[in-house]
Amino acid sequence: MPKEEALIKLIYLTAAVLFILGLKGLSHPRTAVRGNLLASVGMLLAIVATLTDHRIVDFRIIIAGFVVGGLFGSLLAYRAPMTAMPQVVAIFNGLGGGASALAVGAAFEEALKGEWIEEITIQFSSSAAAAALIGGVALTGSAVAFLKLQGWMTEKPILLPGRHAVNILLLIICIGLSTWHVLGYTPFLFTAPVAAADGLRGGVVADDLRQSFQQQGLELSAELHVKSLGENQWQITDATKKDTFVVRLDAGQLTIHDRSALPFWIMVGVASVLGILLVIPIGGADMPVVISLLNAYSGLAAAGHGWVLNNSVLIVAGSLVGAAGFILTALMCRAMNRSLANVMFAGVGMAVSTQAQADDIYAGRVKSASPEEVAMLMDGARRVVIAPGYGLAVSQAQYAIQDLTKLLESRGVEVEFAIHPVAGRMPGHMNVLLAEANVPYEKLKEMDEINPTFRQTDVVLVIGANDVVNPLAREADPSIPIAGMPILEVDQARSVVIIKRSLAPGFAGIANPLFAADNALMLFGDAKDMAMRLSAALKES
Ligand code: NAP
Repeated sequence: MPKEEALIKLIYLTAAVLFILGLKGLSHPRTAVRGNLLASVGMLLAIVATLTDHRIVDFRIIIAGFVVGGLFGSLLAYRAPMTAMPQVVAIFNGLGGGASALAVGAAFEEALKGEWIEEITIQFSSSAAAAALIGGVALTGSAVAFLKLQGWMTEKPILLPGRHAVNILLLIICIGLSTWHVLGYTPFLFTAPVAAADGLRGGVVADDLRQSFQQQGLELSAELHVKSLGENQWQITDATKKDTFVVRLDAGQLTIHDRSALPFWIMVGVASVLGILLVIPIGGADMPVVISLLNAYSGLAAAGHGWVLNNSVLIVAGSLVGAAGFILTALMCRAMNRSLANVMFAGVGMAVSTQAQADDIYAGRVKSASPEEVAMLMDGARRVVIAPGYGLAVSQAQYAIQDLTKLLESRGVEVEFAIHPVAGRMPGHMNVLLAEANVPYEKLKEMDEINPTFRQTDVVLVIGANDVVNPLAREADPSIPIAGMPILEVDQARSVVIIKRSLAPGFAGIANPLFAADNALMLFGDAKDMAMRLSAALKES
């Protein structure tokens, strides 16, 4: 191995180790910033090493891509509000998958012209097919997830008749086209006398084959690469003319095919349609799981891309993204007590409560209170638990909540936070917001840890949360979109105060009997405003 190549491999290995250390760091808030930094340094090393690759021919294209992509990415990251992070993640996933599909396609086209690889191996073409299939699904699936989350498309599942059969058919077509692409017989050119067959086995291919081509009025150049594709089958690449043929000896005849990328590109198109059809039957409330799964897909597509380019750091990074995405998907499914198959194929989310159902639950039972009344209730409490949800993110109430927490603690009240795994709109959403306001990490308790303590809690302050505290989740009725989802058992506390602006439903679109419970009080208003008014009332009391 030349010294330069060994050095690049060593840098790739260092980058891979930094990625793994970075991921480990990200598993805890205290080490997350360092983890992020380590992984970023790893990525920088990998990029620099890759740019020294002798196969890179045109730096202008790389710089143009870097400028356009960098501008688009920075604008998106700076301008998107925290509440739109799932959409941003969906776009990044989709573009990652799409980029892998296009890049392996470009690599295949180049290889067909006999450029930068000498032969199209099975590893090369099958990795390209796998990366493109998964990347195509990730691209359009993520686009649909983005449209649903952004509200530009209905959040409800779109259940087309016969959708499972259609999806299976499309998958079979993709596999068929991939096989065709890997074997490479397309399209048929002409047949030639058998005399050339022996020549193909030995080194004298050129003359016989060239003669056959000449008889068809086609020219072959002097520089031909021949590769056996198994018994009686060869791949011939004319490096000068930039074309690749597959030659087969069959029943005393040579059959010559032009090897083209057509089946590959048709397969990418079909996979893109499959991505749309796989995601439209999934309800908006299940989008976080879908995004996590598509994230795993984009990682796998990148790993496949790594196999195509024989690039170890891309294989490692893609596999890490793939594995992390699958683990997160499994954890989220477990948090909602659902199987992945149920999320993907059951069309959950059709049932949305009507006004009549909401009236049935709320009529005459909802009690509302003023900030002063709630402040008195909390002042007399020994233990208060704050259960935040999406509304906290919308109103950016984290700083006001932290002030309220400090105030309560200064009065001898024990305060903890109850964190539901799918509260908000992205995994870890509440943790990120509360960390931003310097709420000590030890105060954030995960659902399993805090649930047994609600019975000993005087007041639970639900701030902009709805689905994650909805007791309807305990029902076995499959028409309830969140049926079976574990919830924060806040209704078991002595008193529950819910801060939200109205009785409007949350993400799952269903009414919440908690708001009408005997021990519940509604504090209607914006979360930040109400938290500030609670602090003010506490100071006055
Ligand atoms: P939620 O069920 O969507 O409820 C949020 C509530 O916040 C709404 O009912 C809304 O009521 C209230 N709200 C909005 N703006 C507010 C403001 N400025 N001040 C006060 N309240 C405000 O939220 P959740 O309980 O956090 O549950 C999360 C849901 O999102 C689950 O269904 C989950 O599956 C889904 N989801 C989760 C993720 C994730 O990864 N965490 C991602 C996507 C979707 P008003 O309009 O009456 O104020």
